[in-house]
Amino acid sequence: MSQKRVYTFGNGQAEGNATMREVLGGKGANLAEMNHIGVPVPPGFTITTDTCNEYYKVGQEKIVELLTAEVDAAVAHTEKLMNCKFGDPKNPLLVSVRSGARASMPGMMDTILNLGLNDEVAAGMVEKTGNPHFVYDSYRRFVQMYGDVVMGLKPENKEDIDPFEAIIEKVKEEQGVVLDKDLSVESLKKLVELFKKAIKDQTGQDFPTDPKDQLWGAICAVFRSWMNDRAILYRKMEGIPDEWGTAVSVMAMVFGNMGDTSATGVCFSRDAGNGENLFNGEYLINAQGEDVVAGIRTPQQITKIGSQRWAERAGISEEERVAKYPSMEEAMPELYKELDALQDKLEKHYHDMQDMEFTVQEGKLWFLQTRNGKRTGTAMVKIAMDLLHEGMIDEKTALLRCEPNKLDELLHPVFDKAALKAAKVITQGLPASPGAACGQIVFHADDAEAWHANGHKVIMVRIETSPEDLAGMSAAEGILTARGGMTSHAAVVARGMGKCCVSGAGEIHVDYKTKTVEIGGVVYKEGDYISLNGTTGQVYAGQIATKEAEVSGDFKELMDLCDKYTKMEIRTNADTPHDAQVARNFGAKGIGLTRTEHMFFEGEKIKAMREMILADSVEGREKALAKLLPFQTEDFYGILKAMDGCHVNIRLLDPPLHEFVPADDNVQGQKDMAAEMGVTVEEIQRRVHSLHENNPMLGHRGCRLGITFPEITAMQTRAILTAACRLKKEGCDPHPEIMVPLIGIMYELKQQKEIIQRVAKEVFAEQGVEIEFEIGTMIEIPRAALTADRIATEAEYFSFGTNDLTQMTFGYSRDDVASFLPDYLEKKILKADPFQVLDQKGVGQLIKMAVEKGRAVRPGMRTGICGEHGGEPSSVKFCAKVGMNYASCSPFRVPIARLAAAQAAVEE
Ligand code: PEP
Ligand code: MG
Repeated sequence: MSQKRVYTFGNGQAEGNATMREVLGGKGANLAEMNHIGVPVPPGFTITTDTCNEYYKVGQEKIVELLTAEVDAAVAHTEKLMNCKFGDPKNPLLVSVRSGARASMPGMMDTILNLGLNDEVAAGMVEKTGNPHFVYDSYRRFVQMYGDVVMGLKPENKEDIDPFEAIIEKVKEEQGVVLDKDLSVESLKKLVELFKKAIKDQTGQDFPTDPKDQLWGAICAVFRSWMNDRAILYRKMEGIPDEWGTAVSVMAMVFGNMGDTSATGVCFSRDAGNGENLFNGEYLINAQGEDVVAGIRTPQQITKIGSQRWAERAGISEEERVAKYPSMEEAMPELYKELDALQDKLEKHYHDMQDMEFTVQEGKLWFLQTRNGKRTGTAMVKIAMDLLHEGMIDEKTALLRCEPNKLDELLHPVFDKAALKAAKVITQGLPASPGAACGQIVFHADDAEAWHANGHKVIMVRIETSPEDLAGMSAAEGILTARGGMTSHAAVVARGMGKCCVSGAGEIHVDYKTKTVEIGGVVYKEGDYISLNGTTGQVYAGQIATKEAEVSGDFKELMDLCDKYTKMEIRTNADTPHDAQVARNFGAKGIGLTRTEHMFFEGEKIKAMREMILADSVEGREKALAKLLPFQTEDFYGILKAMDGCHVNIRLLDPPLHEFVPADDNVQGQKDMAAEMGVTVEEIQRRVHSLHENNPMLGHRGCRLGITFPEITAMQTRAILTAACRLKKEGCDPHPEIMVPLIGIMYELKQQKEIIQRVAKEVFAEQGVEIEFEIGTMIEIPRAALTADRIATEAEYFSFGTNDLTQMTFGYSRDDVASFLPDYLEKKILKADPFQVLDQKGVGQLIKMAVEKGRAVRPGMRTGICGEHGGEPSSVKFCAKVGMNYASCSPFRVPIARLAAAQAAVEE
């Protein structure tokens, strides 16, 4: 049997349904589903995602051959339902051709509207509708879109304006009008001719007149748009596989530009920015879809309340609002009621916030699309909790609805209220995507990327953003645009990224050529600082101080829900009492890794440390270590106190000693050190050279230091346990764990353990109290994982140091991987950076084996992860799956890890 490539829909019936996203893409599946549930959708058909993959294998000619019979039949089906004919001048069918992948990729791929027009069809349509303005407006839009998307007439460089826009500007000037809508029929006709000529001049190709040719051109262009740069980048950012392909939906056109009883709009069943349960959106009377999203005309609000809020922000009086910018609720009350009822129906059907597109053609409402709406992290949490409270979803679903990495947005700093009061508002736009952002102004996406790569925080300022600006938007702290409403692509994409965005700030004047923006009479240049408040739409001059976010309200409720379901605890990696406190506030249940080396760098400590390194006898070292002891004791006292009642896993010194002395490229540092220590520079250099190693990460580090210099292990143990004893005497409840790093051989641990236990006895005798503590090790060398059963005879717990374990399993240097990793990712040898996303197939197997081997010897042995992967959702889930007791991550990843761990338990 031949493979089915085309699925029809229309008039309340459809061959597909909502469960067929993989085959029909999200848009195609939902168009089918809307037919089943009684939402009016123009008839049409969807070509499957697999066909897109076939297109890339067999090419355009062959795919057309494979599709022709099915597409012809589907066109006939659409013609029948619409009672008109494709290409028939007397009674023509026009169609739209739209992309639609399995996951929504707003604005990343191409769409073509009004397809099927040529000179004869246009003339026929004028006859039929008696509305030449509408017909030629549609025609010029079609030639413009087709010329751009299919035939490739685009601006040549970033400063140039769109070639079609340039022609429109010229014709408007000739006619003496300012707005597109005021173009006369003659001017519109002229535009069609000028557009076609520009296409021919630039591309050497004639504009196709046969609607069938147009259709094939458009279908294949949509397939090709799957592989355009912005779609590829978007997939990379969102983790969408290239193999999915896009479906193509071809639908009968309905027209929002047929006069004042026609309109088009985009709406959301809840607020995608803050999650408020309020139907909202934007529409334009007598317009086509792209007018709303492109930001050329300022769209009006759908609801009255939305309109009033908008007017208040824009400083527009109620009188002016009602007269000039009425909401759809006021201007088209009956249609509004129908729209409101259908949006509610769709949300209840999908049990999630919907993002919908609609068109009103001469008083009849049609839905063109519905999808689960992209939303900010704040909205994600609020909507999940609200839907739970409303009984629309259960607790487990609420947990699974939230994307762990998106919580990151809720943890970003917010503007300090006092600083904000003192700051100067220079203009006001729409609060398109909430958050606080400050940075230096740049005007182009590639500049945003370059500045960001050089360590600058930037705000990208644009007249309007197009999907081409994706990489720049991603690199920027925030986005400010002069044009574009709340549903413009800039706003939708920014919200999806959780990036602060103020759009439609109409008072700003951007000049790309001089790289300046004029706001309220002041000219700001590239590199000047501004601040954006994406929650209010306000723009400020200069930088504004920020303060840390906190876990409260819906966010806290979600976190409590995580605790209810999770089987794995989340700890934090923290080296200071402050970090420990921050992590505790985010819900960390202990410390999974305290790296002690960072403690040695301040003032007197580094001096004593260097003295220890320079000493060439045990006595000399002990003398220097005695100076370090009180500092270390204070450090541990602070951390154990901040984590009172919780486990604190402290790792003994790990890095190679050369990291503590000035290297040869720092002669001044060596001189300073010599003066400070009262020795000659040559002596310092001699020691620096003796510490040199060709491969320090595989050299004299970790427990190897403790083996050669047992006094270091003894001093650190003494400091940890003395601090703990003091706290116990003060009525606290300290739980230190002492961790020996980089073990590969059981005897390494055995010998270090003997030192620790000996010192412990001494300290307890001196302090007159005893505390319970455990001695464990890191599993970060493959041999340790392979011999975990032997190591477990000595270790009371395992902590997986997956940074080193990844380094040594792959044989990739942690520090040098950047030289080839991009090629590996590009060439798809690796799917992700293994230092960020745990390699479950390789490193993961070592972990799984080590957990099992360890517990076989020591039943119920505590295991955790403390490498960077401990804050990465898919890695956390893996750790939960292999039965670890905890994952430990940096303080700001704690809520993310808590959610991932809870999801792992729910998904089990
Ligand atoms: C590790 O190797 O995973 C680890 C946590 O230790 P470090 O990053 O300090 O080497
Ligand atoms: Mg390590």
